Amino acid sequence: MYPLDSLLDLKIEVSEEHEVFRRKVREFVTQYLEPRVKEIESTNSIPNELLKKAAEIGLLGLGIPEEYGGQGTDYLYTAIYTEEVSRVCPAFATESLVRGLFSIPVLLFGTEVQRRRYIPPLATGEKFAAHATTEPGAGSDIAGIQTRAVEREGGWLINGQKYFITGADRADFFVVLARTSDPPSRKERWRGLTMFIVERGTPGLRVGEKIHVTGLRGSQPSEVFLDNVWVPHDSVVGEVGDGFKIAVATYDYGRVGIAAQAVGLMQGVFERVLQYSVQRIAFERPIISFQSIQFHIVDMLKDLQASRLMTYWAATLINKGLTDKAVIAASLAKLLATELAERVASRGIEVHGGMGVAIDGQVERYLRDSQVMKIYEGTAEIQRLTIMTHLMRRVFGVEM
Ligand SMILES: Cc1cc2nc3c(=O)[nH]c(=O)nc-3n(C[C@H](O)[C@H](O)[C@H](O)COP(=O)(O)OP(=O)(O)OC[C@H]3O[C@@H](n4cnc5c(N)ncnc54)[C@H](O)[C@@H]3O)c2cc1C
Repeated sequence: MYPLDSLLDLKIEVSEEHEVFRRKVREFVTQYLEPRVKEIESTNSIPNELLKKAAEIGLLGLGIPEEYGGQGTDYLYTAIYTEEVSRVCPAFATESLVRGLFSIPVLLFGTEVQRRRYIPPLATGEKFAAHATTEPGAGSDIAGIQTRAVEREGGWLINGQKYFITGADRADFFVVLARTSDPPSRKERWRGLTMFIVERGTPGLRVGEKIHVTGLRGSQPSEVFLDNVWVPHDSVVGEVGDGFKIAVATYDYGRVGIAAQAVGLMQGVFERVLQYSVQRIAFERPIISFQSIQFHIVDMLKDLQASRLMTYWAATLINKGLTDKAVIAASLAKLLATELAERVASRGIEVHGGMGVAIDGQVERYLRDSQVMKIYEGTAEIQRLTIMTHLMRRVFGVEM
């Protein structure tokens, strides 16, 4: 059964409440988000009032315990929200959920004072947050970051540059990963990193230019510069030197979200393809009457449904804790769903013919979006490495 313990590990634990919630998100999407998608694409920005509306309905407090102002919901709710929103606008999901990359480490590893100070305003949508690990010289290789923090005057002085930081433009709070001591050996390069909370407005912190990427228009990451940024000792998240583990645990949760985003994308393309192929006439008949189009539709449904099952299964396991099998499930889901999202998006273009590549046709954007999903929160290679690491530990008790 590796990596599972029993057949019960295959359960997807959705309930009536999850379905009621899904309908609530669908209403928000239909009423407020869908009418603005073309505008988001053309202006490359997400209107603040849409985020405010989502906050009002309680959609920004998902996954945050009630005692910190959130909805107290399990990870399946986050997956459902992400899928429903990404069906029409994956960028909105990124922009509204990126604060999870801040709230997860603070909730899991932060102090009570940090949780009380930073989490409630994020849950209500009053404030925004970002997660700054990646640098121009290091992405997958987290241990290769060059940002340094040294102890100075009762706190830490941070210097470095971060790159590709989603939501940095509107973030009030950042978690920043920096090296605080040299690694003890080449094999243990991951040791000696520390995660800090840095507030916007701290002298020396500057959000630079946006980096224009091919997809997810509306959610474009930025550069962040840290030039002699001083933060007090109580800005450290978790223990000094544990930053690598904290960052990786954060991504283990986040990956299910990206899988759900890819599932939503596939659902969006699938619905468009169905609609288009009954309406579009070629050779005096709707194109859906051609068997080649029907085969495309069925293959898309196969990819979509397999990814959805894997994603909801991973979300169910993650709800029960960050065990090796849950991490394997999360990485499998991210790997499968993002690769299939690319294939589905590409088929979507084929079925739409010329309209598929027309910028205003609203089909090609899904292919662009799928490219980002394949990369952020760990490329396919990093998912494979993660799966192997946890598999070896689980089966043989060996650390890779
Ligand atoms: C739109 C967008 C938003 C982002 N948002 C954030 C954010 O909010 N915060 C943040 O910190 N980062 C963010 N990132 C960064 C993102 O997480 C990294 O881009 C990603 O992890 C890949 O790192 P890299 O770009 O440095 O590629 P590299 O690590 O340089 O990888 C290049 C290639 O080498 C492969 N590779 C690398 N190492 C190995 C290996 N050991 N074995 C096999 N193959 C390997 C990779 O799979 C890839 O194909 C964002 C990126 C994008 C594009």
